[in-house]
Amino acid sequence: MSIIVPCYQEEQVLQTFHQRVAAVINRLPVSCELLYIDDGSTDATPYLLRQFRTHSWVRCLRLSRNFGKEAALRAGLDHARGQALIFIDADLQDPPELIATMVDHWLQGYDVVNMQRARRDGDGWLKKLTATLYYRTMRVLMAQGSLPAQVSDFRLIGPAAVAALRAMPEQVGVFKLRVGWVGFRSIELPYARVGRVAGTSKWNYPALLDLALEGALAFSRKPLRWYSIACASTFLICNGVLLTAILAGSVSLLHVLLGVTGLLCLGVAMLGEYLGATLLEVKRRPLYLLQTERERGTEHEVRNGVVHHGGRP
Ligand code: UDP
Ligand code: MG
Repeated sequence: MSIIVPCYQEEQVLQTFHQRVAAVINRLPVSCELLYIDDGSTDATPYLLRQFRTHSWVRCLRLSRNFGKEAALRAGLDHARGQALIFIDADLQDPPELIATMVDHWLQGYDVVNMQRARRDGDGWLKKLTATLYYRTMRVLMAQGSLPAQVSDFRLIGPAAVAALRAMPEQVGVFKLRVGWVGFRSIELPYARVGRVAGTSKWNYPALLDLALEGALAFSRKPLRWYSIACASTFLICNGVLLTAILAGSVSLLHVLLGVTGLLCLGVAMLGEYLGATLLEVKRRPLYLLQTERERGTEHEVRNGVVHHGGRP
């Protein structure tokens, strides 16, 4: 198994985090690597990670600059050697001790174990409110897959879901939405998310807006469809008025303008629909993923006719 930890300017917490996670790894019933992704930190983070690397079960990757947490997660997904992956923040807001429970659930047969924030003690009221709004909006917008409320990036992903996620090469999007999209047997485990042990959050409101827009663009054609319906309705109304005027023999310049407006609206709706279809096409996502029975010691996943095999640790 691989535990993936994105880190950016975390010099104040890394030592404590490493000690706590090492204690957990020692007690796990599966073999494990700890993979740190240094997202271009300029503080003592790279120095600390070099020290941790003296253990054979620790690996560190360093991005050439700060690319943001989403990119760090993707680097972890691409480079992890374990068959199941756990993603966890370095700031101890996600308690490493819960990893043992997550592994238990995986061994019981779940492919994805999502940790759900039952309490967010570390966050202010505005962050809680905007986060709730974000989850509600995304759930309305997401056409396929699921986005459980208050589930962020603290999760375990089993081999079948990992293979499916690696097969999604798309650039625009949000990792947690992709996990929701691939499906498989999932469970949500509630936990209390505490405040940061030290250091500062890199989270901000423009970043949340960015994430929301990227998510909507990558996972929803619904706004385009809603606009198409509005445009098509406008076309019908405008041309209905024009036709009535023609039949009554009282066509004026206003009626002609209405007719032209209706036609323009129909054009915009058609463009939107073609754009939506193109967006789906360029992503080249698999059309379907198969859920297979887990056999003892082996895992089979079939995707678009290709069979992937993998053993459990
Ligand atoms: N992080 C990262 N790159 C960034 C920002 C954050 O790898 O550009 C890491 C950070 O080190 C931490 C995790 O992502 O391990 C969550 O970041 P943060 O605590 O700032 O976010 P919050 O918990 O406040 O949403
Ligand atoms: Mg945090």
